[in-house]
Amino acid sequence: MDCLFCKIAAGEIPSRKVYEDEQILVFYDIEPQAPVHFLVIPKKHISSVGEITPENSQIVAHIYEVIAKLSQDLKLENGFRVVTNCGEEAGQSVPHLHFHVLAGRSLAWPPG
Ligand code: AMP
Ligand code: ZN
Repeated sequence: MDCLFCKIAAGEIPSRKVYEDEQILVFYDIEPQAPVHFLVIPKKHISSVGEITPENSQIVAHIYEVIAKLSQDLKLENGFRVVTNCGEEAGQSVPHLHFHVLAGRSLAWPPG
């Protein structure tokens, strides 16, 4: 499949890795929107949150466990935001499930 994040997960396209295990990869966003901005992806292709099912939802719990651990390791104690855009109107540009983790500045709410 011609998927950018599948290629990054397979190491075919380089990334600045933050964390990796057998199920997920964490790497810095190429166009950071905050002083800290990394992406968390499952290695197995899932298109978006809209494709989460009882069969594959375990990965989401694992992703959040790793985000919690990384927030401690990277000392994001002042706050951080986890965002996943789903579909065109929400601004999803890469159709492979990913969670943005943003930190290091004050973040507006609600988002634009
Ligand atoms: P979204 O627009 O929510 O689908 O998020 C996709 C994100 O992937 C954007 O923040 C892009 O900056 C980021 N991105 C695109 N290509 C790469 C790449 N090769 N390495 C790291 N991040 C990327
Ligand atoms: Zn993919």
